[in-house]
Amino acid sequence: MTMKYWRKLSALQQDEIISHALKQNVNYAEGGSLGVPASTLDDKVFYGQASFLKDSPWLRLYVQNPNHIGCHTLGDSEPFFKGTQALEKEVIQLLGEDMLGAPEAGCDGYIAAGGTEANLQAIWIYRNYFEKEFSAKPSEIALICSSDTHYSIAKGAGIFGLPLLEVPVEESTRLIQQDRLEPLVHNAVKEGIGYFIVVANMATTMFGSIDDPNVYAGILKSVGRPFKMHVDGAFGGFIYPITEQNNQLDFTNPDISSITLDAHKMLQAPYGTGIFLIRKNLMHFVYTEQAQYVNGMDITLSGSRSGANAVAVWMILMTYGYYGWQEKIQVLINRTDWFCGQLEKRGIRFYRHEKMNIVTIRSVDVPKKVADKYYLVPDKHNSPADWYKIVVMEHVDRLKLLAFLQDLDSRQA
Ligand SMILES: *Cc1c(COP(=O)(O)O)cnc(C)c1O
Repeated sequence: MTMKYWRKLSALQQDEIISHALKQNVNYAEGGSLGVPASTLDDKVFYGQASFLKDSPWLRLYVQNPNHIGCHTLGDSEPFFKGTQALEKEVIQLLGEDMLGAPEAGCDGYIAAGGTEANLQAIWIYRNYFEKEFSAKPSEIALICSSDTHYSIAKGAGIFGLPLLEVPVEESTRLIQQDRLEPLVHNAVKEGIGYFIVVANMATTMFGSIDDPNVYAGILKSVGRPFKMHVDGAFGGFIYPITEQNNQLDFTNPDISSITLDAHKMLQAPYGTGIFLIRKNLMHFVYTEQAQYVNGMDITLSGSRSGANAVAVWMILMTYGYYGWQEKIQVLINRTDWFCGQLEKRGIRFYRHEKMNIVTIRSVDVPKKVADKYYLVPDKHNSPADWYKIVVMEHVDRLKLLAFLQDLDSRQA
């Protein structure tokens, strides 16, 4: 893999670039910014003049509070914040091309409120696409995904008024049941569904399982129905493309049009850093003509949004560089391998995708008290859990995992 953009920068280099970007943004203190309903953070509350700001480009960004409203990878944008918008554009280009296999300048995208918004943005674009290009009615456009899919897709079905088709998965492998998908699609077509929006998971929230997008594409092509495919990589998007470089869930797969990532999960960025990436020539399907007072195209679900958050994502990516990030993920994968070995030794049953850092344990093998003590997340909250998951993040180190294993041992003895 050749990295065109994803390099490593020292703290000093980052500081210089951020300072330069802030200089290109509007300066409220000088100059004549009279019309924008925006200013810095309230300096009585947020240390506007404090001397420690000079040591922290990140805090300077937050105090300056740039608004990144709109999408900056196409058309015009608000000129007031062009310095920091350029860094957001770099993030989109870097992730699209260096990590997700997009062709050069082949991606649009923006930093959304979260994975939920990025997923909704995809559904919104494809619903409009089928309406405009095929004169489809919403009732003829179905969302299709596995039963392990994040509930934000069900939210999207409700918000955009689309029928939702859920394909069951195999209990132990968490793979889509192909023999159930076929009749589901055939029945839907018989009942008047003409168009499909597929959501494939690049790691499900509860299991870290990975969907095979070709299972969907194969069946939809065989029935000859137009479809658009979105990949939900809100959890796995900063892991799986690193651990499995030749995968079917990125832009090298021509059937895939868009991808969601979440920087506020594995990347440990501030909340409000979902990432939406989409092939060129699709964003405009959600252009809102009424958004006349915003310069450029407000084609995002959120209006005003934090430019500081966008640059925070840039800072994390630049601090690690591609190879640094790869090493960090490898450490988590090694730790997960070790933990799974420990579970196997004890005969404790679990699901884990070998390229991921989630371990989902059968609830019958974990006393509820132990699960509660370690805040394991159950698959259901309102009825007895079938599964509990452990997510091996930076802070979930071997010592903590050992303590959990010892508690399991003492209760099972
Ligand atoms: C967390 C998650 C989401 C939702 O993301 P938010 O950032 O919480 O809105 C969507 N899909 C998957 C797979 C997730 O793990």
